[in-house]
Amino acid sequence: MSILQANPRESGGSASRTGIIERYRKYLPVTDATPVVSLGEGNTPLLFSPRLSERVGAEVWIKNEGVNPTGSFKDRGMTVAVSKAVERGAHTLLCASTGNTSASAAAYAARAGIRCAVILPAGKIARGKLAQAFIYGAKIIAIDGNFDDALRIVRELGEGNEFAIVNSINPDRIAGQKTAAFEIVDLLGFAPDIHVLPLGNAGNITAYWAGYREFANERSTSSPRMIGVQAAGAAPIYHDKVVENPETIATAIRIGNPASWKQARAAIDESRGAVEIVTDAEILDAQKWLAANEGIFVEPASAAAIAGLWKRMETFEAGTRIVCTVTGHGLKDSEAATRDMKEFAPVAATTSDVLRKIDM
Ligand SMILES: *Cc1c(COP(=O)(O)O)cnc(C)c1O
Repeated sequence: MSILQANPRESGGSASRTGIIERYRKYLPVTDATPVVSLGEGNTPLLFSPRLSERVGAEVWIKNEGVNPTGSFKDRGMTVAVSKAVERGAHTLLCASTGNTSASAAAYAARAGIRCAVILPAGKIARGKLAQAFIYGAKIIAIDGNFDDALRIVRELGEGNEFAIVNSINPDRIAGQKTAAFEIVDLLGFAPDIHVLPLGNAGNITAYWAGYREFANERSTSSPRMIGVQAAGAAPIYHDKVVENPETIATAIRIGNPASWKQARAAIDESRGAVEIVTDAEILDAQKWLAANEGIFVEPASAAAIAGLWKRMETFEAGTRIVCTVTGHGLKDSEAATRDMKEFAPVAATTSDVLRKIDM
């Protein structure tokens, strides 16, 4: 039971990877008239994590969303949002982004053959994510401001214009993202006791909670306590106060005024969960530990979930079943990962010199 992943032949009938709309169609706001715009998102691995389990004294699985088509969970919401936008006749997608939404929107726009404009905080987007938006052909607008400013502009532009907004304020995004909770229940056969994930604009915690609740009704499974993790420098929900100048190395959660704040609060309260905060140093430590001990390389925002799990481990009873979502791939932000990496001084190209250097 170390890797759990549905067989696409069983779930979709075709040899290629099917996307979440085909796999969970009856739970999504689509009809036979909806043109499905998919890149084969979802069905990501749920990995039992022995070292992490040992470290926290509970049973921990990692839902690795970094292996989605553009390297983050945003693709689950984007396939639904873009399919619905195309169904409504949209020609241009618009979003504000800390990076991954723009990467995903740009890719699905390319797949659909429509245009995409993305509004980004200048200088605060990880290089890999910017490369994605660029190569998929999006129109990139950098602003002198943060994500919250970008989202405000998107909301203003959206009123009365021809843009299809694909931020998580679009309910089709949330609908798509809830399929991650479905996959977890489908693969484990039960809902975990605790679910831990990073908390930024708070769309994802909203989506997971909706997904768990929906399956709880249908299959009478329980629902987990939802634990959202914010960066210490960008923790509006934790402090119950808008943060004017959010700052953290975890750029994907560098948000001071989350759009789904109320929904996140409700998910946390209804599930008897919690909000946790972690410092940048704790985030980078968790990122490195997870890569070196479980073989999973995630971006800093995702590592915040692991750091948050560590912070709360005293509260776990033995046998507690925990799922941790890691939200985005580490290669998106290789600068963050290689901050402590030194230059590698070359040795002579001989076996003896190399062997001496290996020294293990
Ligand atoms: C978008 C994103 C988040 C934050 O998710 P929200 O739904 O905004 O709370 C966390 N991690 C990564 C990698 C993301 O791309």
